[in-house]
Amino acid sequence: MSAAESQATPQLTIDALMAELIALGQISEAEPPVVTRVVFGEADLRARAYVRGLCEAAGLTVRHDAIGNTFARWEGSDPSLPPVATGSHIDAIPNAGLYDGCVGVLGGLEAIRVLKKLGFKLRRPIELVIFTAEEPTRFGIGCLGSRMMAGVLSPHQARALRDKGGRGLEEWRAQAGFTGALESVAAAKGHFHQFVELHIEQGPTLEAEGLDVGLVTAIAAPASQRIVIEGEGGHAGGKLMPGRKDALAAAAELILALESAAKSTGAIDTVGTVGVCEVFPGAVNSIPSRVTITTDVRDIDAALRDGVLAALAAAGNEVSARRGVTIATELINADPPTVCDPAILAALEASAIAAGKTYKRMVARAYHDSSFVSGIAPTAMLFIPCRGGVSHRPDEYASPEWIGSGVHVLARTLALLAA
Ligand SMILES: [Zn+2]
Repeated sequence: MSAAESQATPQLTIDALMAELIALGQISEAEPPVVTRVVFGEADLRARAYVRGLCEAAGLTVRHDAIGNTFARWEGSDPSLPPVATGSHIDAIPNAGLYDGCVGVLGGLEAIRVLKKLGFKLRRPIELVIFTAEEPTRFGIGCLGSRMMAGVLSPHQARALRDKGGRGLEEWRAQAGFTGALESVAAAKGHFHQFVELHIEQGPTLEAEGLDVGLVTAIAAPASQRIVIEGEGGHAGGKLMPGRKDALAAAAELILALESAAKSTGAIDTVGTVGVCEVFPGAVNSIPSRVTITTDVRDIDAALRDGVLAALAAAGNEVSARRGVTIATELINADPPTVCDPAILAALEASAIAAGKTYKRMVARAYHDSSFVSGIAPTAMLFIPCRGGVSHRPDEYASPEWIGSGVHVLARTLALLAA
């Protein structure tokens, strides 16, 4: 495409894209503008139907797999080649906004429509992917669809997933109309030629620095643990301080040990959080006998992240011996951080320059479907600003200009990759 054409085109269609984003946001379990779309719920199914209709109207061939991952394909001149893919998710946590995930899906569709309108000739197919359940709301595990595609979550593990009420994934999936063997979801390495995901930053830096887009070089991955500390309960008045085995006091030491370990790696990208602390029996006049905490440690460097986990384990041994409490640690997950593909990053950079957009290379600190797709295909992400870095809230916002810049750079990138 010529520079003149491609600079004009995204502006021409941005109104339609914004209208589609707003229409998608209206499909919600909550009163709009609050977006709640939990996977396989009624709103999720309506949203899927809406997006599917848009894809078909754009002339794409739509199919889905057994877990509901949806693929909208624009055939290339050589259909035997693995497709270049783009996409994201449309499920939303309770009380969310319009843009998380949806910008990558509808923006990806818009990029495809722009290229089609320009009469762009593909060699490789381009597929728009809508992944099932990026958010962990229903089954407690994030990136369900991409995780299964990458073979990180086995069909056996998936079949064991339950919602809070004890209803299983299989029942939910069947009711949503997704049948077929879960064994067929996993894709081989090279399933996609390349994958690039457009997404809002969910952090404040691009807006603060006045940049149009961010080229994501690495995606941090969390390691999560559940730690149960068992001490000895008793009357808060009757039991004197010497010889106490207060489980909460021990937990407090672990929480501070985690904070200290995360701060001391020397890397700005190391973060450690305890977000859950359940105290038993939880009475004002009762010494805590059992405490459960969860830890979330993230880095783009797996060795640094695992070093924090090791420091926490060492602190646990020391606290356990000194206080006479038992500490049981269960690893919930520890996915590898993602290093983004240099060839896709080069295409993104060339596209940003050609589109006249300002950019920087940056790290993604939140989890994305790309984290898992990177296991089966070279992957990178393209970030756009979001106001105040706010996400997962109804006041999440990305301006039409920001979205237009992202779509413009994405369209050029897909053109380069699929040519
Ligand atoms: Zn997202």
